[in-house]
Amino acid sequence: MGMARRNTAQIKAVLEEAKRLMEVEENVKVSVRPLKTTIATIRFSSRGVRITVSPKVLNLPKKLQLYVICHELAHYKANTQYHTKSFWNELKRAFPNPKALEEEVLRRVMA
Ligand SMILES: [Zn+2]
Repeated sequence: MGMARRNTAQIKAVLEEAKRLMEVEENVKVSVRPLKTTIATIRFSSRGVRITVSPKVLNLPKKLQLYVICHELAHYKANTQYHTKSFWNELKRAFPNPKALEEEVLRRVMA
């Protein structure tokens, strides 16, 4: 298996766990490619849900990979691209202290 396919298989397994934690039943597509200004994005519309993650995410510990994907799913659950109160409330269902994990991700990605 090439690196790109291995990366996709790895993140798909994380996505399945994140969907369980966040109680998302819809089909969600995920792909890995470099992003300029962030490490992950989600787009959702009547045509479907798609998460894109930077390859940098795959270097994080599994717990933080899971957090990053749940963060994106929280945008979908709260139906907003912003970090609103309802967005954080969605994340808190899976992570009691999401802001600590948020900071840990940023620290590691910036390092
Ligand atoms: Zn966000």
